[in-house]
Amino acid sequence: MALSLSAGQLWNLAEQPFDPARLPELAATAEAQTLSGIDAVPLAAALARAMSWIQAHLHTALAAAVHLEDGEDPRESASRIEEIAIHLHEAATTTDARCSDATELVRRLPQTLKQLKLGAISPAQARLIATHTRPLGNDEAVTAVDAKMAGRAPAQSRTATDRMIRRQIVAVDPEGAEARHRTRKKDRDVWVYDREDGMSQLGAYLPAEQATRIYAAVDARARQAVPAGDERTLAQRRADALLELTTTGSRAVVATEIRVTVPLDVLAGRTDAPGELDGHGAITPGLARELAHAPEATWRRIVTDPVTAEVVSVGRTRYRPPAAMARLVRLNDPECTFATCSVPAARCELDHLREWSRGGETSVANLGPACAGHHHLRHEAGWRVRREGDGRVAWTSPSGRTYRKAQAA
Ligand SMILES: [Zn+2]
Repeated sequence: MALSLSAGQLWNLAEQPFDPARLPELAATAEAQTLSGIDAVPLAAALARAMSWIQAHLHTALAAAVHLEDGEDPRESASRIEEIAIHLHEAATTTDARCSDATELVRRLPQTLKQLKLGAISPAQARLIATHTRPLGNDEAVTAVDAKMAGRAPAQSRTATDRMIRRQIVAVDPEGAEARHRTRKKDRDVWVYDREDGMSQLGAYLPAEQATRIYAAVDARARQAVPAGDERTLAQRRADALLELTTTGSRAVVATEIRVTVPLDVLAGRTDAPGELDGHGAITPGLARELAHAPEATWRRIVTDPVTAEVVSVGRTRYRPPAAMARLVRLNDPECTFATCSVPAARCELDHLREWSRGGETSVANLGPACAGHHHLRHEAGWRVRREGDGRVAWTSPSGRTYRKAQAA
């Protein structure tokens, strides 16, 4: 009978390429249910690796199951999808999409599939990469994207992979991306779902620049002059602002500013690299140029080119950073520095990495954005932070493990 693994052995399993020969021990450890609290953390981490390994083999099996032999009727494959869907407890259309991603991984994304098999990336990351490369006709471009994503995704959160793959697709196929954007625009829609307890859910499918703009207006309205004694949460005020802005015909002026980052060469029309829309991510070069030249004040154009000459430190003369420094810190770290967090820096506090009370300076190097949750994690739950030589902020948990954000693209 297989023996249970210690926390140390589990960490080993969680941090190495997954070895299926260790499955019996991992299963025995999980079944024993003897680990709790911090000792259960490496068990969860090791199980996550094993889950990725299983998922990689599930993809291989799905691709093999739906593969059509020469001369085989496509209805045979559809019938096999129907049967698999029963076992996955989902609609056949969902299984169909799953099988398309599986086939994409097996046929065109071997390096990504390999990382999944090693447990180095999550099932969700693998599917994101597959779903986004499917419309690409150029096999060479897919091979390049596969190599790049397989190299980077192991150090990324799902959200970071999502941003990077969308950026990659626009980078390798800007014309295709523009064409798909034009096609998708035709599907724009607004809908309402009935929910329980007298509530409803309102949704919209919109071009990113429009959705970002509407959200910015609602958010800005919600943050405007909150009367004393107003106990509504920010979320509640946003909901009320949406109603006000869409129904009362109020001419309330809501000043919004959304950053559009455009590489200089793209703005000049010399190259076709993706731009960046704050709160959304990669956008096509055509849209980036359009927004950068738009007359409305909504779009704050940020042209990327090496620019220095900024105030980088005020030492210990003041606790709060001057506005220019805060802006620079948020440009360097556009989101919360916690490894897996993607809360935009604009919604984060700037934390002194070396605490002010312990002699920390107010400088670009010693400030880093932390969202409310991760600020709490650090100050109440005993996590330690420090900025490392490459500029990344390392977070060390009470277990002694250190985590970093993936390097920017
Ligand atoms: Zn965070």
